[in-house]
Amino acid sequence: MLHLDFHPTGRHFLQIPGPSPVPDRILRAMSLPTIDHRGPEFGSLGRKVLAGLRTVFRTQHPVVVYPSSGTGAWEAALVNTLSPGDHVLMFETGHFASLWAKLAQRLGLQAEVLAWQGTDEHLPAAPGWRRGADAALIEKRLREDTAHHIRAVCVVHNETSTGVTSDIAAVRRAIDAAGHPALLMVDTISGLASADYRHDEWGVDVTVGGSQKGLMLPPGIGFNAVSPKALDAAKRAALPRSYFAWDEIVAMNKDGYWPYTPNTNLLYGLNESLDMLAAEGLPQVFARHRRWAAGVRAAVSAWGLPIQCADPAVYSPVLTGVITPPGVDADALRRLIHERFDLSLGTGLGKVRGRMFRIGHLGDSNDLTLVATIAGCEMGMKLAGIELAGSGVQAVMEHFAEHAAPRPLQQAA
Ligand SMILES: *Cc1c(COP(=O)(O)O)cnc(C)c1O
Repeated sequence: MLHLDFHPTGRHFLQIPGPSPVPDRILRAMSLPTIDHRGPEFGSLGRKVLAGLRTVFRTQHPVVVYPSSGTGAWEAALVNTLSPGDHVLMFETGHFASLWAKLAQRLGLQAEVLAWQGTDEHLPAAPGWRRGADAALIEKRLREDTAHHIRAVCVVHNETSTGVTSDIAAVRRAIDAAGHPALLMVDTISGLASADYRHDEWGVDVTVGGSQKGLMLPPGIGFNAVSPKALDAAKRAALPRSYFAWDEIVAMNKDGYWPYTPNTNLLYGLNESLDMLAAEGLPQVFARHRRWAAGVRAAVSAWGLPIQCADPAVYSPVLTGVITPPGVDADALRRLIHERFDLSLGTGLGKVRGRMFRIGHLGDSNDLTLVATIAGCEMGMKLAGIELAGSGVQAVMEHFAEHAAPRPLQQAA
């Protein structure tokens, strides 16, 4: 039950990896009056956000915007490009990759799921959920597919259930090395605008994005960035689609409009978010998240707990998965921390439920909100009787003090 008559004092700490805390500036922009979505003002807003999105996706090609959650944009990527019974190759990096595969199956596609083969002492139930997609395994499977039955390779760029990224450029090279014509589809719903991403340079055909994570907006917008090859595939794709069909949307977007009512106020927020990202500069935004992530990892290491991502080359800049000691119910711990300190942490999803929790370091955060987040975790773990090797609070403070932010606050103003 939500007790609307009581609100704790101070800010709630929404340190889940999406929805992320929304900057006040964006909330204020969204509170402006809703306008006529067929009127002249709307067209200029539409043209501006569509151009700004190309910068964020790093593409010269169309970005399609849906009034949908990320899941809708997942579905859109598949129904626009594929036909019933088509074979798609997915890689199980975690819960979200598994959900995308399930969605593909429900649409009548044949989803084949590759997974890392190995054992893991900390997460025996999900050994592959500590690593990124294995490009060599994808290449091997594509080479076997001499008849080119596989129509698409689908990979999650920032696996939000684990805190592991995948090397998308390596997956592209694997597809090219195998000489395979499959489309490359990538989910960067949680990484978009916080983790470096390059739609055109990495040769991605459809990139799936969402609003409520790296883009610092509330939930409710889904994106497809679409390559010319994907637009061409759409001409032959026979899966039924109407609401999600790219053709009408892309045609009307030329003037900044949509065939149906877009989510006007969220687009005000998107416009504000794009302005903020442009003012800071994407390389600076990415560096900021990497720095936060390193501080949070310093804390987890000081606690003596395993970071879920086992490969330092692919640590996520936007969240960190923390594996709790055997016998500790990570969800009970999360609930305790929420009740005592008004701090929300991400739950363990699917195969790792109860075995880990996730710390989000994205959206409207800063050094001190992250120090406080680590303090909340540390107090909660002590209350839960978990023995820690050392102080994460001390470690994160030292990390941030020793690694000054690249831009002093005075200059950023
Ligand atoms: C959040 C998320 C999704 C699902 O998005 P919804 O907006 O919840 O539908 C899919 N993939 C990844 C990687 C995500 O982080």
